[in-house]
Parts: sequence; C-alpha cells; structure tokens
Amino acid sequence: MLRRLFALAGSLLLAALCSTSQAATATPDTSTASSEMAEGKVLVAYFSGTGITAGIAKDMADLLQTDLFRISNVQPYSVADMAYDEKARANQEQKQADFRPQMVGNVSNMEQYDTVLLGYPIWAGLAPCVVLTFLERYDFAGKTIVPFCTSGGSPLEPSIPELQALTPQAHWLVGKRFESHASRDDVRAWLQQLNLLGAHTSAAVLDQTAALTQSDQAKAPVFNFEQHSVMLNSGYEMPINGIGTYSLLGDTCYDAITTALKTGVRLIDTAYMYRNEEEVGRAIRDSGVPREEIFVITKLYPNQFFQPEEAIEQALKKLNIGYIDMMLLHHPGHDDVKAYKAVEKAVAAGKVRSIGLSNWYVEELEEFLPQVSIMPALVQNEIHPYYQENNVIPFIQQQGIVVQGWYPLGGRGHTQSLLNDPVITKIAQAHGKSAAQVILRWNLQKGVVVIPGSSNPAHIKENTELYDFELTAEEMAQINALDRNEKHDWY
Ligand code: NAP
Repeated sequence: MLRRLFALAGSLLLAALCSTSQAATATPDTSTASSEMAEGKVLVAYFSGTGITAGIAKDMADLLQTDLFRISNVQPYSVADMAYDEKARANQEQKQADFRPQMVGNVSNMEQYDTVLLGYPIWAGLAPCVVLTFLERYDFAGKTIVPFCTSGGSPLEPSIPELQALTPQAHWLVGKRFESHASRDDVRAWLQQLNLLGAHTSAAVLDQTAALTQSDQAKAPVFNFEQHSVMLNSGYEMPINGIGTYSLLGDTCYDAITTALKTGVRLIDTAYMYRNEEEVGRAIRDSGVPREEIFVITKLYPNQFFQPEEAIEQALKKLNIGYIDMMLLHHPGHDDVKAYKAVEKAVAAGKVRSIGLSNWYVEELEEFLPQVSIMPALVQNEIHPYYQENNVIPFIQQQGIVVQGWYPLGGRGHTQSLLNDPVITKIAQAHGKSAAQVILRWNLQKGVVVIPGSSNPAHIKENTELYDFELTAEEMAQINALDRNEKHDWY
C-alpha cells in the first residue's frame, strides 16, 4: 500500500538523480548513528541503476577495506526501463506492493557480518523492488543496517519503513542521502561520522583470504604449498608460480622460456597480443620437458572475438604444442560471450583444457557469468601491493575461481618503487629474501597465482624460490596496508 501511494506521486522522481538537495534526517524510530555503531565486520550491499550508487558503494568498501555485494536483478534494467515515464518498467514495478524481482547471486556468508551498509537510488520515492528481495532473503536479526541513497532531491526517510518492516529484528541507524556527484571525501566523512573509519577498522585491513568464512573457504581454491600447485575447477592442476612473457620478443622470449623451464618453472603466460606464441611454443618443444608437465596460458584479444574459431586455431598453430592448457579472453569486449562459447566448444573438442577471463571485475563477472556454461577456472587481473583489489579477489575466489595477478612487481617502469618500498625491504631483510620474493610470497599467501615477467636468468630463478619462508600475519597486514588503489595500466 505504502509503495503504491508513493509510486502514484513519484514517477517524477525517478530520473532526478542529477540535481542537488539537502542531506537526510532521521526517521522517528531510527537510532542516532555513531554512538551505537556496532563493532565487527561490515558488508556494503547496494543496488545501482545508473552506476551512481555503485560508485559511492565502491568508495565505501574501498575505504573500509571490506566486502562489497551488488544487488542486481536477473533481468537488468535498460535505460528505457528507467525512463522518466509513467509506463516505464521500473515505474510500473514500483507500483506493485508485492513485486519481488529475482536477484542475481548470493551473499553466502551473511552470518559473518555485523553491519550492513545498504545503498540504493530512490525510485518513485522508494527503494527499488530488488532491495526488498535482498532483505527478505537473509536473516538480519541482531545486525545493524545503515541505509544510504542517491537521489536528486528525494529524501531517504520515506523509503525506510517498508524496509524496516521486512527486518523487524535488525537495528536500523540513521541513514544518509548522497548527492549524485558525492565525492570520496563525502563518503569518508560519513564513515567517520559512523565511527566506522576508526582504529578498529584500520586494524581490520587484513588479508582478505583469511577473512573468508568457512563456507566460502570451502569453495575458494586452496593452494598446495607442498606441490606448488592449485586444483582448478576444470579438474586440471596448475602451478601457482610461473613466468609472464609480455614484452619479451623473438630470441629474448625463446631464451627466457628456455631458462625458465631449465629452472623448474612450469607455468607460462603468453597471449596473441604479445606476438610471441611461436617462440614460447618452440622453446617448449626444444626443452625436452614432457608436454604434460607444462601449463601454458594464452589469450584471445577482443579484435579476434568476432571470429573466435579461427583465432583459436591460429593460437594452436602458433604454439604448436598439441593442446592449450588454458585460454583466456584478454579483455571484456564486443562479442566476448560469443568468443567464450567458442572456447567452450574447443574444450569439448579437447583443443583447450580450461577457460578463463582477464580484466574482468565484479560487475563484469556478474553480468557475464549467467551467460556462459562453463565456469571460468581463472581470472587474471592487475594485482600488486599498490593495487590490491581486496574487494575483487574474495568475490572471485568465493565462486571457486583461481585468481592470478598480472604486474605482480608493478609492471615495467614501476618496479623500482615497489622493490624499494621501505616496508617491503624491511620484511625482505628479516627473511633474508629479496623484495621481489616477498611481494610474490605475499600474493601466494593471499591465494593469488604469480607470473612475474623476466628475461634475466638470475631473476627467473629468484622468482621460483618462494617456498622456503613464510610471511607472518603481521607482515601480511603491513603489506596490505600499502594499498593505494594505484593502477599501473588502464584496463
Ligand atoms: P612484472 O612482472 O610486474 O614486472 C616485470 C619487471 O620486473 C621486468 O622489468 C623484470 O626485469 C623485473 N623483474 C622480474 N623479476 C625480478 C626480480 N626478481 N627482481 C627484480 N626485478 C625483477 O610485469 P609484467 O611482466 O609486465 O607482468 C607479468 C605478466 O603478467 C606479463 O609478463 C604478462 O604475462 C601478464 N600480463 C597480463 C596482462 C593482462 O591484461 N592480462 C597485462 C599485463 C601483464 P628483468 O627482465 O630484468 O628481470
């Protein structure tokens, strides 16, 4: 009923995300925030139609170094669905009191969170229906919920009673309405006001792998530090340290792979775009190492997605090593689903053994995964101490997908700042290891596979010597605290 009343008056509000207004005030039965904020683990859960709420929620999760869950419909909204029009789909849905759209994904470990920061845009005066689906799905008894919204002028408060009615045992705190152009500083200020950016949360900037619950850990791939390998969801075993070949061309590439194989490296990362698949294949064939012992990853580039069968055949021909252990899509792009399906067929034909993605993050995965049949075995993304992806890594691992980091040492042109970082060099000294080895070991302990690139035989060897020492929880936390969200490449 409440929903209907607001909806009748509210269609004008739907498209009002871009103007400005004053901040929200408390509803009568909602406690004031900071003094009552519960200690413990925080989840940022949000629905976003146009991406504005998503930006604010991501800033929140990033500042809190905590988990992020996107609430989204199985049937996403197009621009027309959210139009400023009484007949538009979203407006029509907002009028139906009991409408509960199906939601994508699941927070498998809701019990571990004490506080949920719940974000959404105001649609027709209310929370979008899928937020109600989300609240009905879990038991929020004893948890604290703090709502926040984005809107052009509509207040937050009218949307709250309906949500509170669904969660009578939750403790609701005063929420906040953000302007559509709210800055990271605005977000930080609110978190400080909530007492969430105090000492207890910075101490909680922890190894995210350790933060997974038991049920998530059951799904997350487990590294075998004895065998230096991980079992993929495709049923194949893959080494957890290898060599990357980006920018290694011609003889430099051939020599680097030859050295790596002699040194015991058994995981090699190449790509169509690196223009060295022939050299990688030739070095493998010449090495005398049995093919079955070597794991080769190559990638299809987006400009190949329109003719993926041909591109797969081309990679097989260039590598000339029988089968490909893993084929990744290098980036999201036009026809990526089509390309992935072609790789699925190549798996069925025995030409490729496992499939993965590269440069896919939470939103991209949420959109992509429901469209394909074979769960990716691996996602390869930029990860190093200055760009840690702490919100992305657990999300991927919780689906049973292995995470692999590119630019583990920061990438060419950036390695010096990382290798000379005083926190890292101090830890390296304490263990009698190099800074590079400490960074690579930090990755492994977070459950991230490493593929450092090198053509220097001494470095190639050094990059394999990662299993005779272990970083303490304190050292892991120190490196975790170096995160600057500093991406070293554009994708
Ligand atoms: P990286 O591994 O972060 O850094 C490579 C640089 O580190 C090279 O200059 C190398 O120089 C140096 N280095 C390596 N080991 C060292 C050591 N032990 N001590 C000191 N310096 C060391 O960067 P990257 O090679 O560009 O990235 C790794 C791999 O990720 C690539 O090769 C590629 O396979 C993959 N990648 C994937 C994507 C993607 O979009 N999927 C993007 C970028 C990269 P030396 O040669 O002198 O050792």
